Amino acid sequence: MKSESGDVRAEGWICAKCGVALELLPADATYMGSSFQVDLPRCPVCGLTFIPPDLAEGKMLEVEKLLEDK
Ligand SMILES: [Zn+2]
Repeated sequence: MKSESGDVRAEGWICAKCGVALELLPADATYMGSSFQVDLPRCPVCGLTFIPPDLAEGKMLEVEKLLEDK
C-alpha cells in the first residue's frame, strides 16, 4: 500500500451505514479557532463526513504548525 502525499483519497472508503462509496468533498473545518477547508470523504446519501485517522492524528498537527508560523 502506498500513500500519495498532499491529498486524502476517498477510494476504498465505504459508508458503514449506507454501503455506498464515499465521495471526496470539500468541508469546512475549524481548528484552534481558525477555519479552513479540507477535502474529506463524505457519504452522498446520509452526509456523514469521515475523518481518516491519519488526518486526525497527522495532518491536523501539520495544520497546527502552519497556523503557528503565521
Ligand atoms: Zn451513509
